[in-house]
Amino acid sequence: MAENVFDPNYGKPAAPETAAKPRTETTRSTNGDALVDVVALRGIDQVYDQGGKPHVVFRNFSLSIPDIPDRGQFITIMGPSGCGKSTILRYISGLQKPTAGEILFKGQPRDPHESVPMVFQQYSNFEWKSVLHNVTLPLELQGVDHREAEEKARAMLKVVGLEAHADKYAKYPNLSGGQLQRVAIARSLVVHPSILLMDEPFGALDVKTRREMQDFLRAIFEAQEDMTVILVTHSESEAVFLSDKVVVLNANPATIVADIPIHLPSARDDAARIAPEFEHYVAKVRKALS
Ligand code: ADP
Ligand code: MG
Repeated sequence: MAENVFDPNYGKPAAPETAAKPRTETTRSTNGDALVDVVALRGIDQVYDQGGKPHVVFRNFSLSIPDIPDRGQFITIMGPSGCGKSTILRYISGLQKPTAGEILFKGQPRDPHESVPMVFQQYSNFEWKSVLHNVTLPLELQGVDHREAEEKARAMLKVVGLEAHADKYAKYPNLSGGQLQRVAIARSLVVHPSILLMDEPFGALDVKTRREMQDFLRAIFEAQEDMTVILVTHSESEAVFLSDKVVVLNANPATIVADIPIHLPSARDDAARIAPEFEHYVAKVRKALS
């Protein structure tokens, strides 16, 4: 965690064998036991009332995010607007309960003490607080001692490259759009969550900043020991660059139309974007979406 992602050697694969190992191919531990899913949605129904008529978003919908021991994985969910992507993230975060069905974490119902942070497209920072206090907040809510919280928050701000901005208000234009999303990411990561949810987090950024944030996010993910990221995006290239697996949904009610493992090296930089397989995966994702 203390690794600096801006170190020039950061993210270089330590051993080619490790780097090339796909994260999404096994659901069994080394001793052959079946592994319990990190997150599983089981038999989900979601029906809204739409002017007196039922609007069925999910009907007996299930989704499994298998455990890859000690690796974590980066999963992206794509699909047309309104198909239920944000709703899935809200179920996992605990912000919403389905009409029927269950959400299991390693086979168990939600542990109310474990937070599952979410990063949104709209900056969700506390604008009247400093950058530092935006990041200490979740620790303080957990009862972490003030000094320890500040220490951990400063370490996390270093990881996201914002240590020089700790005392600024976390708002535009004091910080740029990309920097504000880094604050939100730092606030999410400071509690070392096992799952991080991201709902179109880079949708409001310009193209260049967005690419920088993709590089940054993949590097941050690589630096975590065992974290599952579940991202929603409308960008096929963003999905391919970031993910170990892309899940494509269609709508009314939602079904999974494709589950596409992305076998690019774990550590990714611009070279991944020009690798011959990259366009192949982008085309595959685009086809599943069409
Ligand atoms: P996505 O993120 O894939 O665009 P959402 O998960 O936000 O879609 O929403 C899925 C569907 O549920 C949409 O059709 C939306 O209109 C509907 N919906 C979401 N929340 C409500 C609500 N509170 N009342 C009625 N319909 C809702
Ligand atoms: Mg949405």
